[in-house]
Amino acid sequence: MTHSSIRPAKISFVIPDSIAEEVGFEVGDSLIAINDFPLRDLIDYQFLCADEYLELDVIDNKGQTHRVEIKKNYDDDLGLEFENALFDGLIQCNNHCPFCFIDQQPPGKRDSLYLKDDDYRLSFLYGSYLTLTNLSKKEWERIERMRLSPLYVSVHSTEANIRIRLLKNPRAGQIIEQFKWFQERQLQIHAQVVVCPGINDSFHLEKTLTDLALFHQGDIPTIISAAVVPVGLTRFRPLEDELIPVTKTKAKEVIKQVRSLQEKFYHRFNSNFAWLADEWFLIGQEELPPESHYEDYPQSDNGVGSIRQFCQEFKTTAKRLLPAKVDKSVKLTWVVGNAVKKAFQPLVQELNKVDGLTINLEALQSHYWGQETTVTGLLTGEDLLTQLQGKDLGDGILLPSIMLKHNDICFLDDMTVKELAKQLNVKIFPVTGIEELIGICLHSSTSSTMSNR
Ligand code: SF4
Repeated sequence: MTHSSIRPAKISFVIPDSIAEEVGFEVGDSLIAINDFPLRDLIDYQFLCADEYLELDVIDNKGQTHRVEIKKNYDDDLGLEFENALFDGLIQCNNHCPFCFIDQQPPGKRDSLYLKDDDYRLSFLYGSYLTLTNLSKKEWERIERMRLSPLYVSVHSTEANIRIRLLKNPRAGQIIEQFKWFQERQLQIHAQVVVCPGINDSFHLEKTLTDLALFHQGDIPTIISAAVVPVGLTRFRPLEDELIPVTKTKAKEVIKQVRSLQEKFYHRFNSNFAWLADEWFLIGQEELPPESHYEDYPQSDNGVGSIRQFCQEFKTTAKRLLPAKVDKSVKLTWVVGNAVKKAFQPLVQELNKVDGLTINLEALQSHYWGQETTVTGLLTGEDLLTQLQGKDLGDGILLPSIMLKHNDICFLDDMTVKELAKQLNVKIFPVTGIEELIGICLHSSTSSTMSNR
């Protein structure tokens, strides 16, 4: 684990009418400590802010230090946002998984694209997956003391030798002992298993899911849910790797196997407990399960049921917001990954029922990564440029912001949205969520594009 020292927490936004605005905080000021405690990260900040009397040590834009005193209600938010959630640097990964997406990128890109995080703070704050192989005694104690739960853990296999082989790390074999540690403290985990054919599939997968289910007992189950995800390979992966891509036949086999385990789990827990990522059904060319299958969508951020959930939310929102007609005719192109082409057709039909509104769905494949079935979040600027050039894109592109990184400025291949808009000579509307998508369909002439925001 690399671990740099604490840096002042730089403020990126001061919420209007907040306590912070009232006491005069400005963007660019930095917070050093609260009540004399230095802040390691957003978790410390949130924890220390839960008090009625605060003394804040601050460095302003001009480098002057100040002590600011604030009296407030215990749970009042100060209204500050920071450039980064981690003020002492990222805890980096010490594994060497052959399927690591970071190693499957082309060389020569921005340095930050090659940073491998394996940081329990990001797991707690944002639900990113970690492996638990790089935690020091101090970090374990902090998880316990601050009750940082649930965490999202990449398990891959409960068999020590297989997990060590997959993570290429001798420290990876203690996963069962680690589950017991969580269990004793009533802390919880969402688990994931990335299935690599020939390594942790078939009876190994059955053993892993059965072992995980042993920790899904009682009022506070240690393992809340387990997602089963197919390994994702790109054309940039190292030649010497031992990985086999998931085929249609393999996907069908895994679907059948996990479905039969779900039946057993449902009988025991009244919950499916183990969840198949949507990608299995897309690769296996099978129907996605119905909405009722997904209970409360415990792993939708991990691609489990997210297509169903999106379609369902779209239906309700469209019913509420879509008018019979628009004042001024508009034609837009909605760009998505080809993985959701079939599922999104009814949504497009719904939008096109609005008189004067024409939406064309462009479901693209990623030639950049060399993937036949592509999820929307993996499309790059180059993919859009090569496949949309010369097409009639109407009055603009609806661009799901899930494709964008680094404050929504650029794609995974570093191309900026502005660059793409210029090359395609079209307006681009980045959209987050269904309300914004519908809002832009109805008011595109007054909505902000990437070139004018
Ligand atoms: S743990 Fe994650 S970041 Fe680290 S090597 Fe494995 S896949 Fe990559």
